[in-house]
Amino acid sequence: MVEGPRVTVVGAGVVGLSAALRLAQAGCAVRVVAAASGERTTSAVAAALWYPYLAHPADRVLAWGAATWEELARLATDEEAAGVRLLAGRELLRSPAPAPSWAGSVAGFRRLRRDECPAGYSDGWRLVAPVVDMGRYLPWLSTALAAAGVTLTTRTLRTLDDAVEDGPADVIVDAAGLGARELAGDSALRGVRGQVVMLEQVGLEEWVLAEEDPLFPTYVVPRSDTVVCGGTALDDETLQPDDATTADILARCRALVPALRPARVLAVRVGLRPARPAVRLEVDTAGRLPVVHCYGHGGAGVTLSWGCADEVTALVGRLTA
Ligand SMILES: Cc1cc2nc3c(=O)[nH]c(=O)nc-3n(C[C@H](O)[C@H](O)[C@H](O)COP(=O)(O)OP(=O)(O)OC[C@H]3O[C@@H](n4cnc5c(N)ncnc54)[C@H](O)[C@@H]3O)c2cc1C
Repeated sequence: MVEGPRVTVVGAGVVGLSAALRLAQAGCAVRVVAAASGERTTSAVAAALWYPYLAHPADRVLAWGAATWEELARLATDEEAAGVRLLAGRELLRSPAPAPSWAGSVAGFRRLRRDECPAGYSDGWRLVAPVVDMGRYLPWLSTALAAAGVTLTTRTLRTLDDAVEDGPADVIVDAAGLGARELAGDSALRGVRGQVVMLEQVGLEEWVLAEEDPLFPTYVVPRSDTVVCGGTALDDETLQPDDATTADILARCRALVPALRPARVLAVRVGLRPARPAVRLEVDTAGRLPVVHCYGHGGAGVTLSWGCADEVTALVGRLTA
């Protein structure tokens, strides 16, 4: 029986599960309450390449991203267990641009030579980044949580205060992703629709991102047995896959990576990125219990997960000291 502060984490996506694990490791008695878990979360749809995308503000994203890069790289040393790999890849740009702010946080960053850019692209960079197979990673997190004594209850909450119906708590952690729009009454949250096409693996070992229309980013992210192809970033909350979008994604990705031409389509998936002008990671003492909000990670929930989990744990520590 853990004697530390009692924390209820609302949400079982990558943000909630990572925070729950860090809190349990810090000695808290943690329970997770979530409407859905595993394959039924947005997190399960993520590509999931380490890359700061559609998340703000830049300074906090930089720090959370750097901490997460380190932790995912550590997990990659046991790829079989967690499904994390360190893979080299390229980002291709249509016109020259300054190096990204996070260039110093990753391994092997270097600008591409002009002769390394495919036709139509004039700049870009190469780097090593963690690639996470969410189909393996979310179950790995759940197993680690169960081993740490954390329970998971499946339930849809109407308010954050309802979380105490599952047992007493000293602090609530709100990691409800887009669900925080209702739970925290936050109208700044919006769903940014992402559609991906899962292809069979055809021996790809490098990822590639290409600068295109911001509403239709093109990316190819290989996992050990599948390849994730994307994508879209639309202001639209339809969860139904769209056939014309699938055809467009396939055309763009096969043009960028011709080796994908014979690869069979295994699945098409849609998720809504929980986007916000800034990630909300802060203490809120307006309700019955103190709440640490941690949501609004946009297109970078995996990329920021461990850095945010560390900060949530520090805030809970201060609230319960
Ligand atoms: C197509 C696509 C590609 C992506 N690619 C990447 C990528 O390459 N790299 C990257 O870092 N990120 C990527 N993302 C973004 C990433 O998926 C999200 O940022 C991340 O999943 C957010 O995690 P979360 O835990 O906050 O939310 P979620 O995974 O949505 O989890 C929210 C949790 O809260 C629960 N919940 C919500 N409301 C309630 C309620 N009322 N009561 C109880 N529980 C509730 C839900 O059931 C769920 O368990 C991508 C997203 C998409 C859609």
